[in-house]
Amino acid sequence: MFDFVKRDKLSLNSKFCVILRFNFYSIMMDLVIPDKTHDESRQGEALMLEPKDGKNNGRKLYIESYGCAMNFSDSEIVASILSDKGFETTGDYSNADVIFINTCSIRENAEQRVRNRLKEFTVAKVKNPGLVVGVLGCMAERLKSKFLEEEKLVDVVVGPDAYRDLPGLIDKVDDGQKAVNVLLSREETYADINPVRLNSNGINAFVSIMRGCDNMCSFCVVPFTRGRERSREPQSIVKECTDLFNQGYREVTLLGQNVDSYKWKSEDGSQEAEVVNFANLLEMVALINPDLRIRFSTSHPKDITDEVLYTIAKYENICNYIHLPVQSGNSRILELMNRTYDREWYINRVDAIRRIIPECAISTDVITGFCTETDEEHKDTLSMMDYVHYDFAYMFMYSERPGTLAAKRYADDIPDAVKSSRLKEVVAKQQHYSYQRLQKQIGKVQKVLIEGFSKKSDKDYCGRNDHNAMVVFPVGDNYKPGQYVNVLVERTTTATLIGVVVE
Ligand code: SAM
Ligand code: SF4
Repeated sequence: MFDFVKRDKLSLNSKFCVILRFNFYSIMMDLVIPDKTHDESRQGEALMLEPKDGKNNGRKLYIESYGCAMNFSDSEIVASILSDKGFETTGDYSNADVIFINTCSIRENAEQRVRNRLKEFTVAKVKNPGLVVGVLGCMAERLKSKFLEEEKLVDVVVGPDAYRDLPGLIDKVDDGQKAVNVLLSREETYADINPVRLNSNGINAFVSIMRGCDNMCSFCVVPFTRGRERSREPQSIVKECTDLFNQGYREVTLLGQNVDSYKWKSEDGSQEAEVVNFANLLEMVALINPDLRIRFSTSHPKDITDEVLYTIAKYENICNYIHLPVQSGNSRILELMNRTYDREWYINRVDAIRRIIPECAISTDVITGFCTETDEEHKDTLSMMDYVHYDFAYMFMYSERPGTLAAKRYADDIPDAVKSSRLKEVVAKQQHYSYQRLQKQIGKVQKVLIEGFSKKSDKDYCGRNDHNAMVVFPVGDNYKPGQYVNVLVERTTTATLIGVVVE
């Protein structure tokens, strides 16, 4: 849903369309769309840990993250690995002995942002020549040792599957060398590492259930930067979620690039090896406790099964919300994108969701101006939006990424001005449907998990309903963050539901 937050870091030309100028009731506002899996408000956030007794090695780590929730979750793993080696965290990079920047490659502007940020670290390095500067994540994996040539400041380049090697790589830099490990793995899931979550509100947590992606969508760099798809052992996921619940967390978001292809086969030597699919895993997590809410992202339209939909419908604590990226509403473009479904297939999946979970919210991702897209084909995307009435959408202009199938096969032939005007049409339509869907909630009672004080006033609490919409209501004596309340929605802003707690 929409939310009002002014972000001075971002510009309106950002190709990642999170800030939209929006004329509503004749007021010009900046709208920032919060995204659970790619949260703009968290871009560049530094991770802070409490020092561990007796383990301090006297060195300070500064780690900041960009990109999707998977990257933020990985930074928690990195921090956990280094805190075991006695590193303390700092929120001020000028105090740090080691600076890590966990990067995203998904669009060109994401990489540019990292390069600009690296320039800002130059002064710190001049002041402290012993400072170690490391680049982690997707951009490290994409550029490999080329990074060391292009950015002289950088000492360490580490891909997403090599974080266990970080202490050794830092030692290497301490010995005066540069260090690179960008080996991708077919097995690494960091299942045994307990991520540290001290930046969190203690109520919502991300839990990685798989890594990598085997899909090879032609526009996408992820299969090259994150390697082959692999699923994490289900018991370790259930244990992590149970531990989180016992610590007071009340919502987990299960993360994977394509959660519906989650598959774990036990290797116990028995003839009938047990297979756990995503529907089974959802059920296992749902059974931990009815008060633990479950969300998940991302569902691929080619893989989401009726079994998953029936599991969502069966358990009250699995949120009725599915992120089902369409990318384009036109079958020819979907084929060029190598999405492996067409318009009819996608509509069939939406119809199945509506049939099995009538109250389900659906969100999507849209790319405008993919190679050779005609105006007519773009209109198919708009008509898909008219068909589905998405609750929410993440909307992007196509950004060619080196090494992808599209970059090799097709010309990036749609002018930026056309990509941008198509994006504006998509955004305008989405605003219409998002607002319409919020309006429909007026007069209804919603179960809300309280997350904390609202951004605008400590006289109000805020929390999310089942559909992930933000709900604001007055603070009361009988409830507090981490608890569920029933809220009667009385009105809405463009982004938020506003109401009162009822019994
Ligand atoms: N695995 C998810 C799926 O298949 O839907 C998506 C993961 S990707 C990190 C998030 C979104 O970024 C994609 O759904 C797509 O809309 C967008 N994206 C990826 N590559 C892009 C590109 N080259 N240009 C513009 N948008 C892109
Ligand atoms: Fe990229 Fe497609 Fe994999 Fe999503 S499913 S991460 S878009 S290749």
